[in-house]
Formats: sequence, C-alpha cells, structure tokens
Amino acid sequence: MKRRTLITSIPIGLAATTFSLSYPSLMAAIAGEKHAEWGYNNSEHWGDLAQDYAACKIGNEQSPIDLRSAIKSELQPIEISYQNIPLRLINNGHTIQVNSNPGNYLILDQTKFELLQFHFHHPSEHTITGEKYPMEIHFVHKNEQGLLAVVGVFLKEGAENKILEPIWKAMPNHKSSEKIIKEVALSMTELLPTNSNSYRYFGSLTTPPCSEIVNWVVFQEPIEISSAQINQFRQIFPLNARPIQPLNRRFLLTSI
Ligand SMILES: [Zn+2]
Repeated sequence: MKRRTLITSIPIGLAATTFSLSYPSLMAAIAGEKHAEWGYNNSEHWGDLAQDYAACKIGNEQSPIDLRSAIKSELQPIEISYQNIPLRLINNGHTIQVNSNPGNYLILDQTKFELLQFHFHHPSEHTITGEKYPMEIHFVHKNEQGLLAVVGVFLKEGAENKILEPIWKAMPNHKSSEKIIKEVALSMTELLPTNSNSYRYFGSLTTPPCSEIVNWVVFQEPIEISSAQINQFRQIFPLNARPIQPLNRRFLLTSI
C-alpha cells in the first residue's frame, strides 16, 4: 500500500464518519480514490472490495472463459509488428510483467493497438474444453479510444524456452520497481506460435477493476516451456489465475 501525503486538516464530519477506517483507507477515501488490496485467494469477492471493482461482480462479459463450442468463422488475420526490446521487468505483486517500448503494435479488424506490456499467469486463465495449460502469457495492447486487445499464448511443458531465459534470470522474487536490462534484446515475436489460428471474443480484464474493454485473441497453438522454468515461476506465484467466468450472451469465434 502506497503511503500518501498527510492531510493535516480533516473536516470534522468526515473524520467522525470514517473513524473506523485504517489510515491509508481514510486517506484514499478523502482523495476519492480506491486502493483496495486484492489477491487470488479472494477473487470471488473482488467486486465487494471497491466501488470501482463492481464489474468483477455484476459484469456480464467477464474473462477468462472456457474456450469450447466456438463458432467457426472467416476471421481477418491479426497483423503483429514487434521489434526486439530491452528488458524492462517488474514484479507488481500479482505477476511478472515486461513493459514494452513504443513502436510495437498489432492491427485487429483495421484498428491499431499499441503494445503496453506482457505478463504471465500460472496456471493458464483460459481453458480449452475445461483443460488448463501450465501457464499463459498476455500481451496487452491499447488503441486510441482506450480499448484493449489482449493476445493470449498458452505455455505447455516441453523444451526449455530460450526466449524466456533472460526474463527468468532477472525475475524479481518479490514486489519491486522496474528493473531495466539494456543489453538484452528480447525477441517477442518468437513468443508467438507459428500457427496463427485463434479464438476471439469480447471480454474483460482478468484483474480488478475487471473492465469490459478487451478484444481477446487467444492462440490455439501453445508454445513450450520447461518444467524447471514453470517451477521457478510457481515458487513466486503458486496461483495467479482468475477462475473461469460464464460466457453469457457472447459469441466465441474461431478461425476456420
Ligand atoms: Zn493477464
């Protein structure tokens, strides 16, 4: 929890009504902000933690989902343009995240989305007909209107993943600020499967505030990661995956 600057004069009425709140909550309440702590051991209660998290509870287009009974359709292929980037790495307490540089983007249905970051989940968040993969990568992109396109890539146990090696080597065990390793040129395109068949659906962030602003593209073909690499991540994050959410009145599409 970030400490905020002390506000010395608190209106008496407000001080009295919020007396039972802890100091950081009180400060957040005064500033009109929500800094509710959330975790994977209380994911069913995220919607109750803060007003801003209401979509986690009442949203009808939540993620992740079980990928099954997809409607086959002629989807336009997505165009991904990634350059090699230096490693900007952070453990934000919920995942290991690699921050991108400007200039990496994808085009989805004629719309350009800039890559912001990618991060990891253990086990996978999406499932395929009920089955989980050991891990899942999310590449998070944003367009000019603030909508997101998130590309999901499953990781299955197999050969050591050499592209992930510099990330795994530098991975902070505890919550930390951004670590920059300039000498690494991370080849992100090699983290994408060669077969570009994907599932597509409209959903949400899989973490609070669970905003329903995400065009999901989940590749069908997984890439490989070794059991030692999975174990190393598991030591830090034994479980950082939100449970499956109902599809409700949405369409899940897949490439023909
Ligand atoms: Zn994610």
